[in-house]
Amino acid sequence: MNSNSNHVQTCYKHTSRQTVLCCNRCGRPICLDCAVSTPTGYRCKECIKEQQKRFNNSIPRDYVFAGLIAFVLGLMSSYLLVMLRFLPGIFALLLGPLVGMLVVKLVRFATQKRRSTTLNYVTVTAAGIGAGLPLLSNVFRILQSIITGNFGLLFSNTLEIGWGAAFLILLCSVILSNMKGFSIRR
Ligand SMILES: [Zn+2]
Ligand SMILES: [Zn+2]
Repeated sequence: MNSNSNHVQTCYKHTSRQTVLCCNRCGRPICLDCAVSTPTGYRCKECIKEQQKRFNNSIPRDYVFAGLIAFVLGLMSSYLLVMLRFLPGIFALLLGPLVGMLVVKLVRFATQKRRSTTLNYVTVTAAGIGAGLPLLSNVFRILQSIITGNFGLLFSNTLEIGWGAAFLILLCSVILSNMKGFSIRR
């Protein structure tokens, strides 16, 4: 009756599920839940993980270099903005992406293009902390102006911290999106 039954393959993980898909790397049959679509075809999750591990080739000193570069550049550019009192504010919107690109370029150079997702997060966190520190002076001035009831000062400082936040967000998103571009795409 069922002459086909000995040809039916089941997912290597879910043995009750019949499937026609196979991982194109290890050849094991996989069900739709286990299959990950890649530009070169379907792969099992284990092969994807192994592939990512191979691409994550950062070494410990990469994190130090990337962290330092991102922190110093973030700090310096944010400090410059605070010193200039964000005049004009549009400057912050230009400087954010510009410094972000510079950080990515320098990190790529310093790490000799080694990459990992952790490296991306170390870089963006260090940049965020560096850029955030000078803005604390604005937070302090805002508190001060509230206490002293100086609403003119309150307004100008709130405006400045708005530009500062825009700068910080632009900086971090440019770094993250550009660094993700050279970590593995599945
Ligand atoms: Zn596989
Ligand atoms: Zn499965």
